[in-house]
Amino acid sequence: MAFACVSEIDVHIASSYMGKTFLTFDIDWASDEVLEYCIDLVESFGVKATWFATHATPLLERLRANPNFEIGIHPNFLPLLNGDFVYGKNYQEVLCYYMDIVPEATAMRAHSLATSSRILQVSKEKGITHESNLCIPMQATKGILPLAPFVNWDGLVRCPYHYADDVACMYGVLQSVRGGGHI
Ligand SMILES: [Zn+2]
Repeated sequence: MAFACVSEIDVHIASSYMGKTFLTFDIDWASDEVLEYCIDLVESFGVKATWFATHATPLLERLRANPNFEIGIHPNFLPLLNGDFVYGKNYQEVLCYYMDIVPEATAMRAHSLATSSRILQVSKEKGITHESNLCIPMQATKGILPLAPFVNWDGLVRCPYHYADDVACMYGVLQSVRGGGHI
């Protein structure tokens, strides 16, 4: 099974994503102990993965040191919706907050998938080339909807995904990924 990182997707080159598996991890403020456990696990298989970072930790240097990994940003815009300016007083400042943590980031997934066309546009201006905020669960499509990246009107590459651990739990069923059916 071939693995790849999100930013390696070139929509004009089918082989950059067709038949590839993309592991992505939203770090979501996990403790270093938990994050280290996860990194150990992924490294033990020697596979590629994209890590969407929520916070600064010395473990980001470990991720950077592994050529199989890329680090993207996982900005949290939710506080803004509650009038909380912990990460910045507007979405531009929130993006800057996260780009300061991962200046080299070219991939982005927002926490809780909170995004908008304006956020995507400004993300691109700040160096983001690929985003992965569209969750299209197998359960919703019965596995017949093709999952493929596409170019947004502003040039950003949008990379939908099928599986998320929390979404799978919220559907309340165990899912066969191959058939999209319930088991
Ligand atoms: Zn998250």
